Amino acid sequence: MSTYWSPIVASLKPYVAGEQPRIENLVKLNTNENPYGPSPIAIDAIKAAASDSLKLYPDANAVALRKAIAKRYGVTADEVFVGNGSDEVLAHTFVALLNHESPLLYPDISYSFYPTYCRLFGIDAVEVPLTEDFTVDLADYNRPAGAIILPNPNAPTGIGLPLSAIEALVAEHRDIPVVIDEAYVDFGGETAVPLTRKYDNLLVVQTLSKSRSLAGLRVGFAIGQRPLIDALERVKDSFNSYPLDRAAQAGAIAAIEDEAWFDETRLKVMASRERVTGALRQRGFEVLPSLANFVFARHPDRSGEALAKGLRERAVLVRHFAKPRISDFLRITIGTSEDCDRLIAALDDIL
Ligand SMILES: *Cc1c(COP(=O)(O)O)cnc(C)c1O
Repeated sequence: MSTYWSPIVASLKPYVAGEQPRIENLVKLNTNENPYGPSPIAIDAIKAAASDSLKLYPDANAVALRKAIAKRYGVTADEVFVGNGSDEVLAHTFVALLNHESPLLYPDISYSFYPTYCRLFGIDAVEVPLTEDFTVDLADYNRPAGAIILPNPNAPTGIGLPLSAIEALVAEHRDIPVVIDEAYVDFGGETAVPLTRKYDNLLVVQTLSKSRSLAGLRVGFAIGQRPLIDALERVKDSFNSYPLDRAAQAGAIAAIEDEAWFDETRLKVMASRERVTGALRQRGFEVLPSLANFVFARHPDRSGEALAKGLRERAVLVRHFAKPRISDFLRITIGTSEDCDRLIAALDDIL
């Protein structure tokens, strides 16, 4: 605390990112990175962008990237908004679309950046409890609301809703913005992007950090009808006109266009997820049905804290949340086959 601080700073509770430690031979399964790395074509494009042209500002409107995303998802470029990671896209969304007189609704077990943004931007929110089996019951969202945000698949549970349920939610709340955060949708979920054509209250947010293995490049995007995108552009141009540098724009275009690499790597992750789920269940774990690149699991006889500690001692890092209802769960990112083998071996050693 310091008298130099603005009044709001002391009241903030910043989001705590998963650690990025330097431990030798570490199996890093704590931040949902994709172990297969970016498309080699994207890496080449990023290298080519490291040129004298860096003396010039990048395209403030990232037109070429928005066109590439629009083509891939069957929309027009002016229905696409891009930002410095989907965290930034979400931050602008909270300011532009989710701050209303009535409260914002999101699940009590969800992406922990949402309450952080609410505090930063002074947004009134209601955390809607997930059901006993950690699923979203749409009926629970039939209450006074200024907006709704929902990750699908949800994090950290990994549980996904079918497109029909998302459509029901969006249709039920025609008078307020509904934002679907699809950070993990490419690992088996159904994207709601096609619904943006029909519903002007729907915004879909995605990222290149997970399925396209570009967490280090910081590129995310949102798709929706023009009035919603216009709101995001107004906030962006009141904050930072150039959120995506030249390398990020070039690399993101190449990554979006390399469909073969995208499919090959995400299918490998999905296959490993099924193998890890089976191996954990064999060892007595309860594993929630995941459509993401991680699993959420608990053991009936061991606390989540003790398991996370034991794994860490064996150089396997997973994420543990010391929060009500989920403190006995571990969120385990799906790594390479070898990473998964080392996880299972370490658990056998502990158990
Ligand atoms: C990882 C994640 C994001 C943000 O990813 P960026 O790296 O900022 O694009 C957004 N939402 C959820 C639910 C996530 O898990």
